Amino acid sequence: MRALQIVSAGVLEVRDVPVPEIGPDEVLVKVAGAGLCHSDVHVRHAPEWPVPNMTLGHETAGHVASLGNDVTGLSEGDAVLVYLVWACGVCRPCIEGRDNVCVNTGGRYGMPPCPGLGPDGGMAEYIAVKARYLEPLGDLDPITAGPLADAGLTPMHAINGARHRLTPGSTVAVIGVGGLGHMGLQILKATTGTRVIAIDSSEQKLEIAREHGADETFLSDGDTAAKVLALTGEYGADAVFDFVGVQPTVDLATKIIAPDGALRFVGLGEGSFTYAADALTTTLPWGVDVRRSYGGTRSDQRQVIELAKLGKITVETQQYSLEEGIQAFDDLEAGTVRGRAILVP
Ligand code: NAD
Ligand code: ZN
Ligand code: ZN
Repeated sequence: MRALQIVSAGVLEVRDVPVPEIGPDEVLVKVAGAGLCHSDVHVRHAPEWPVPNMTLGHETAGHVASLGNDVTGLSEGDAVLVYLVWACGVCRPCIEGRDNVCVNTGGRYGMPPCPGLGPDGGMAEYIAVKARYLEPLGDLDPITAGPLADAGLTPMHAINGARHRLTPGSTVAVIGVGGLGHMGLQILKATTGTRVIAIDSSEQKLEIAREHGADETFLSDGDTAAKVLALTGEYGADAVFDFVGVQPTVDLATKIIAPDGALRFVGLGEGSFTYAADALTTTLPWGVDVRRSYGGTRSDQRQVIELAKLGKITVETQQYSLEEGIQAFDDLEAGTVRGRAILVP
């Protein structure tokens, strides 16, 4: 079969690889569509990549092609989504529903294995997955559903962890309305009564944000913080989701968060901020809680699928064939992808 692999650090190739064999508890999924995440771009440019000849793709949906002998509850042809977090399922955090911070598979600073970021992923004709990591999609189209596994899941988790600040009447800033951000915006509009400000460095992305119900859109420049503060009577945004994480957006996020606000860092753009533990330095207003939000839980995943089934959230997609996969990487890096790039094998 054909697969898009990272061959070694910095080297991507669409090449022939064997169709994966499945174990008794696994399912072979015929991939219908695989989303391309900005994390894949970070992987492409990582100075060292520890897993040579690995198939990329952690946003995968498709149809069940064949089932291991022990698998029950699924049938050939079922449309399925590959859940991102391949956690143990039995440790204390997993049992508590915090499988994204599994103690056995992620540990203190790590992450549970994700397809396409260790095990082979979905940018291929087929992927082998343990049956327990599959979520039925019902009537949802698997060509465009893959991004629900990360571009949908990750914002849902960040939002679910901030619900105490997402009350009607509050103001939320979404920084970066690309793959994750355009889904986060829709989840906020579908599940909260908040006023949502979308902020991006690209006018094209703000246009998408307006189509999906953003109440205000600001191009990020030197005046953005002042504009958000002016909108909120100089109080700030009750929640800020930074889906970029570069230095300018981290600076912006800390400048616009309101007292008691929920500050959520999701993007991995290597920005940082200083916290000063004294009464006079104003690095953050009083009461702000900061979360380094990672992925999402199985429960978050089910909620995302339900919202998609209800038609309340939609993945905007730009589709490429698998053979055009490297072009899709280049386009994502250039910032020209509308919503999410999908590779269709
Ligand atoms: P994307 O490329 O689809 O979207 C990024 C958006 O940010 C684009 O719309 C771009 O125009 C905008 N942007 C870039 N620089 C900006 C700036 N200075 N100010 C305002 N907007 C700016 O990327 P994505 O796939 O949505 O991923 C976003 C980030 O989230 C990446 O760093 C990715 O690695 C990370 N990520 C984190 C998790 C997690 O669990 N924490 C999960 C998935 C992705
Ligand atoms: Zn991702
Ligand atoms: Zn676990």
